[in-house]
Order: sequence, then structure tokens, then C-alpha cells
Amino acid sequence: MSADPVLRLRDVGRTYPGGVTALAGVSLDIAAGELLAIVGPSGSGKSTLLHMMGTLDRPTTGSVHIGGHDTATLPDRRLSALRGRLLGFVFQSFHLTDGLSAAENVTTGLLYAGVPRRQRRAKAAEALERVGLAHRIGHQPHQLSGGERQRVAIARALVNRPALVLADEPTGALDTATGHAVLDLLHRLHREGTTIALITHDRDIAASLPRRVEIRDGRLVADSARIRGTAPVVAR
Ligand code: ADP
Repeated sequence: MSADPVLRLRDVGRTYPGGVTALAGVSLDIAAGELLAIVGPSGSGKSTLLHMMGTLDRPTTGSVHIGGHDTATLPDRRLSALRGRLLGFVFQSFHLTDGLSAAENVTTGLLYAGVPRRQRRAKAAEALERVGLAHRIGHQPHQLSGGERQRVAIARALVNRPALVLADEPTGALDTATGHAVLDLLHRLHREGTTIALITHDRDIAASLPRRVEIRDGRLVADSARIRGTAPVVAR
């Protein structure tokens, strides 16, 4: 049985005003249950690709399907709703709100999901438990270490049970040991069934993931799933 991929890019290109072509002819499918790295050097187009995958920006050419929906046909409001329902984001610099507790930061991931207030608390507590932070639920970001802050951000990305988590250099602001712990967490979440695409310039991190997609000068130049000629590794 093969379901629709959670994300499908076809011949995606993005040219910025002024004529810089940051992305050209990128085709990529991500199946439910995958953990993959999108790797490339600085300036290769990773952020631009992340914006396309995350429906934060629209392509100049080509198509982006999320959960079977053609994003080109959706007006901005419907696209925001789809993004809120199907995608979770993790950023290098955490993007937590000071003055809010860990639980409150996590519930911001549910604001647009129409979840009643009491259920939001319970879901936030559950997500924090999944990332090993049940004991930090009332702490504010400034009371947490860098690794703990990133775990809160991961809990926020997970709280709505997204079809795909997009993690942009999630260990980039952490020391090596803490970064490894966050990577271990992403591996565990993958084993538990979460679909994760991790954007990185770090080849060692990429090498530790089951699938690697390489981008260079705005083009997809390698995809380990295609090279092997086998189906991508999917958690059971
Ligand atoms: P990476 O994330 O791999 O460093 P980017 O996607 O940020 O790569 O950039 C790819 C190329 O597109 C670079 O040449 C960059 O200068 C250019 N670029 C990125 N964003 C813009 C923009 N908003 N306007 C013009 N050029 C841009």
C-alpha cells in the first residue's frame, strides 16, 4: 500500500527579485515515517528550499504538494491553516517567547488548531513529556539550558501531531554534546513514527541519518534513497 507522500516537490524553482536563481528543478518526495537530511554548503539554497517545503514562500516554477494538497491552488489563509495543521518547525535559535512558561510556549503550537483551552494544557504536558522535559513544564526560557530550550521548541513542533517536522540546523546553536543529545531525541521521535526533515550544512550530522538529499548551487545533486534504488527507510 503506498499512500501519498507527505511532501511532494516537482521541478521547484525560486528566482528572487533581481534575478538570483536560488533553486532550480528540485523534485523531492518525503514519505510518512522518514528521517532525512537536506545537506549543502552555505549559499546552496537550503533556506530557500526550507521556505518552499514549509509553504512560507511560493515557488517561481514547479509545484509543492503537502498531504496531497496542491499549495498553488490555495489562498494564503487556507495555506496558513494547512501549514498549522500539517507542519511543525524547529529553528536553530529556538524562537521561544520569553515570559511564557515551557508549557505556554508549547501551546502556541496549537493556537490555530481549534483545540479547547483545557486540552491545550494536557497536550502541551504530553509533548513536553515526550521530549523528556516533564519536570521543566513551568520554567521560562531564561531558566532553561540551550538543549532544554531546543527540546521545548521540538515539543511545540510536535504538539499538533504534524505530518512533517522541518528542523532548520536544530543543533547549530548548541555545543557538541548537547547537539548530539538533541539528534538522539530526533532519532527516537523518528522511531516513534514522526516524519522529520533536517536541514544542515554539517556532513557528519547528515551521515547519521537514514536518508540524505544533497543540494548544491540550488540543484538537488544527490538523493541516497534514489541512489540505492530502494524505498526510503520508514519507521515501523
Ligand atoms: P543557504 O540556506 O544554503 O545558505 P539560501 O537559500 O539562503 O542558501 O541562499 C541561496 C542563494 O539565494 C544565495 O545566493 C543567496 O544569496 C540568495 N538569496 C537568498 N535569499 C534571497 C533573497 N531574499 N533575495 C535575493 N537573493 C537571495
